[in-house]
Amino acid sequence: MLIANGTLVTFGEENELIPNGALLIKGDRIAAVGTTTELTERYQHEEILDARGRLIMPGMICGHTHFYGAFARGMSLKTEPPSDFPQILEYVWWRLDKALNPDDVRFSALVSLVDAIRNGTTTLIDHHSSPNAVAGSLDVIAEAVTEAGLRACLCYEVSDRDGEETTLEGIRENERFIKEASRDLLAGTFGLHASLTLSDETLQRAVEVAGELNVGFHIHVAEDKADVADSLKKSGLRVVERLEKAGILGEKTIAAHCVHIDAYETDTLRETGTKVVHNPRSNMSNAVGVADVLRMLRRGIVVGLGNDGFSNDMFSEMKTTYRLHKLAQEDPRVMGADQVLEIGVRNNARIASLFFPKALGALSVGAYADIILLDYVPTTPLDADNLPWHLIFGMSGGQVSTTIVGGQVLMRDRELLTLDEEAICARSRELANKLWARM
Ligand SMILES: [Zn+2]
Repeated sequence: MLIANGTLVTFGEENELIPNGALLIKGDRIAAVGTTTELTERYQHEEILDARGRLIMPGMICGHTHFYGAFARGMSLKTEPPSDFPQILEYVWWRLDKALNPDDVRFSALVSLVDAIRNGTTTLIDHHSSPNAVAGSLDVIAEAVTEAGLRACLCYEVSDRDGEETTLEGIRENERFIKEASRDLLAGTFGLHASLTLSDETLQRAVEVAGELNVGFHIHVAEDKADVADSLKKSGLRVVERLEKAGILGEKTIAAHCVHIDAYETDTLRETGTKVVHNPRSNMSNAVGVADVLRMLRRGIVVGLGNDGFSNDMFSEMKTTYRLHKLAQEDPRVMGADQVLEIGVRNNARIASLFFPKALGALSVGAYADIILLDYVPTTPLDADNLPWHLIFGMSGGQVSTTIVGGQVLMRDRELLTLDEEAICARSRELANKLWARM
């Protein structure tokens, strides 16, 4: 298939803008990149998808999300409003996840995947929890991902908060799924909740299993000051130090948040090659603090961007990143749109590349054909240099008209081709209503 007659935005190491550009897709990969004139002459018999002047970009990547949280939208807590992060966990997430059954897990994933396709997010790194339906839960999500046609890396969040049997089930679920998962569109990694719900024994068990499987971890790190206080109480060490000592950090490990870390911990993250994922909308919403992303970047840490279960519009997450750090530092010069693009696009591609064998997040020959068309008409000159500012001030997930993953068209001119959105949303409302009644 040839995608032609659009402006190519290549991203990748050297972002290029190719007016009237075209792309050849062969199988699940990009086979040629050039101008429409060049490629239509060279590949005359290819089916053409006409971009009609739209932007042609790599699909967005989400570095940290929770499909399982989808049913929390509009949910009444029947308690006083949570006043801090531990209460948010206790009143919201740990009540919701305990009530999930396999059907809920499936439809929470499906509604999240519909949202991802609509917003052009083509690769998602998910972190799952359903303590009363652990075994097989990752398969349920994997089936939904496969049905949607998206690319995802899954894990089960091991935690000691529900007793030893559930801890062991979580470890087994990660182990089983990682062994079976490796397909091009699906990958597995080892999920851990956070230092504050994990004992030294559980960390040790997890390290043994993950070591045998040669995978890293996906864990929440120092999201709130409560995690730091707990770690100091348990071990006399701050969170990053405790996890480092336990063998959790490394090149393949994702540390989500890292809001409450000091300079020494920042160096430890860099020295171990640990990847950090920033989730500004979630951090603001939970009022946990502002991660010092700029310091982490200066020290050479790969910091990517996640949505932590907020909408899958990564444009929105990038806009929030752009604004939050300016406000927090009371300095409009910090966190330029170019830095936001580095975090939200290039670093996310580097992080996703840990799990998938071919290149992602760039329109380049050999990369996965994960492509979106954006119905964005610039009202001022657009070039490769000012593109990040167009992205922050003009583009949004709602402008995504067509979404393609691994060469398969999942949405064309806003019409979903793999999922029945109406039926999925109707069933999701029914299941959410029942789940709320059980809580
Ligand atoms: Zn999270």
